[in-house]
Amino acid sequence: MPPKSTFPPRGPNVLVTGTPGTGKTSLCAILARELGLGHIGVGAFARERELVHGYDAEMDCHFLHEDAVLDALEPIMSDGGILLDHHSVDWFPERWIHCVIVLRTSTETLHDRLSARKYSDKKRDENMQAEIMQVVLDEARESYPKVPLLELMSDTLEQQQSNVAQIKRQLRELVSPN
Ligand code: ADP
Ligand code: MN
Repeated sequence: MPPKSTFPPRGPNVLVTGTPGTGKTSLCAILARELGLGHIGVGAFARERELVHGYDAEMDCHFLHEDAVLDALEPIMSDGGILLDHHSVDWFPERWIHCVIVLRTSTETLHDRLSARKYSDKKRDENMQAEIMQVVLDEARESYPKVPLLELMSDTLEQQQSNVAQIKRQLRELVSPN
C-alpha cells in the first residue's frame, strides 16, 4: 500500500512571499494559470471580506484582523492547492504550508518598481531597507523550518520564467519524491 499522502485533497499549498514589489502577484498569476492552483492575495482577500481595520497612512496599508482572516482561510487552506501570496508570513499556521517561495530583487529594481507604484518615499525606502536586510527571508525560514524553501531572484522576466520552471520541479518532487 502506498503511504497516505500528507497533503490536503487538492494538493500542497505554496506560500509565495517577498518584500512588496518583488513580483509575488505576477508570479502567482502565471503559476495559477499553468498549474491550475488557486491564488489568494491575502490583503485583497481580507479587504473583500471586510476583515481589515483602520488604515496606516504612513505605510499606506490596512491593518488586518489576523484572527478573522485565519478563520476565513482555514477551510480553503485545508482543501489545499493554494498559492498564498503575502509579504508577512509569521502568522499562518505551519501545517497549512508545504512549500515556501521567497522572491528577491536588487535594490535598484525595487526602487524603480515601488516608485512606479507611487509609494511615498518613506514607504519605498522602508521596503528597500527590509529587502536589503532580508527581513522576509529570515521570517519565512524561521516560521516554516520543516518544508522546502526556494529563494529566487525576480529582477527580470527571464528569471521569472526560470522561477516558474523551478517551482514546477519542486512541486513535482514534493508530490512524488524519489
Ligand atoms: P508584489 O505582488 O510582490 O508586490 P508584483 O507582482 O505586483 O509584486 O510586481 C511588481 C511589478 O514588477 C509589476 O509591475 C510587475 O509586472 C513587475 N515584475 C514582477 N516580477 C517581475 C520580473 N521577474 N521581471 C520583471 N518585472 C517584474
Ligand atoms: Mn502583490
